[in-house]
Amino acid sequence: MNRQMKILVTGAGGFIGHHFVNFLNKKGYRVRGVDLKHPEYEQTSADEFEILDLRRWPDCLQAARGMDEVYNMAANMGGIGFIHSHKAEIMRDNALINIHMLEAARLCGTRRYLYTSSACIYPGYKQDTPDLEPLKEEDAYPADPEDGYGWEKLFSERQCRHYLEDYGLETRVVRFHNIFGPLGTYDGGREKSPAAICRKVSMANDGDEIEVWGDGLQTRSYCYIDDCVEGIYRLMKSDCREPINLGQDRMITVNELVDIVSEIAGKKLTKRYDLTKPQGVRGRNSDNTRLRQTLGWEPQISLEEGLRRTYRWIYDELVKNGQVRGSELRRASGAA
Ligand code: NAD
Repeated sequence: MNRQMKILVTGAGGFIGHHFVNFLNKKGYRVRGVDLKHPEYEQTSADEFEILDLRRWPDCLQAARGMDEVYNMAANMGGIGFIHSHKAEIMRDNALINIHMLEAARLCGTRRYLYTSSACIYPGYKQDTPDLEPLKEEDAYPADPEDGYGWEKLFSERQCRHYLEDYGLETRVVRFHNIFGPLGTYDGGREKSPAAICRKVSMANDGDEIEVWGDGLQTRSYCYIDDCVEGIYRLMKSDCREPINLGQDRMITVNELVDIVSEIAGKKLTKRYDLTKPQGVRGRNSDNTRLRQTLGWEPQISLEEGLRRTYRWIYDELVKNGQVRGSELRRASGAA
């Protein structure tokens, strides 16, 4: 039955898109992946993979032709360092991708369309202390999102709502809260905090000092990739027409994140705080009430387990690339 359904995943060369293609492939769907590039760390399992630039209107039409469903995950994005220093580029590229992809999906007769938004749409004034209340979906307004990246996400969420109201395109909007896992970017400037910390801890010797951005007291919640792909699949099938959070609701400080990774690695490390580096909002956590009520489900994989798998993968990559000299991980983390 699933074989009859044709699904487009944009951003299929990226972290979440690549994992999601694997997930759909295992369920037997016919999948077309589209991206500017092939996945970096392993081959795609998509039935077709097309290299297209979705800022361009003709490429969006080509991507969407004949598709029953679209999961739009293509975006120019990265961690806090990248999104703070590339605001114009990010807003231009992502607005073009999202405006064109929605219209192409409509013209091609797509039945359902999922848009990957972000916790970055939540207002700064709700996130100025480390011990804040978890963010509910309705907290998005009055708007004061992350400058650049967050404003574009909020605009595109709104456009999804209007395509539903004006054209009857069944749009779904998910707000991710820090998704992490293996096969994600871990160096080069676009990596996010869990991957950056796993890389720094991998490269440190026992007793070393590692750099932490900010004072380490900023708080976040982190959600493992397997829960993310399960959640978006469930959301697309649901009748939830409002934006919905997808994340864990266990809030920890960045200091605690470093401590968990150090423990996994079996290393005692000292933290050196760089207060000149961007650290984003002071605190952020996901309120999962709507997620539980609407999907009857919530993320299952513990932070420790997710970090263990992620650390193991990043460590192995660094060993493979000759950036780390091997062997301590398997002993320390109990990795088989
Ligand atoms: P990623 O950077 O790994 O993947 C995005 C992919 O989009 C990349 O492979 C990139 O090449 C592709 N892309 C960029 N511009 C393109 C273009 N013009 N044409 C075609 N492809 C293009 O990021 P990700 O973590 O997999 O994120 C997927 C989606 O989820 C994005 O929309 C992102 O904004 C959103 N999101 C992710 C997180 C997270 O924690 N990872 C959090 C909030 C929101």
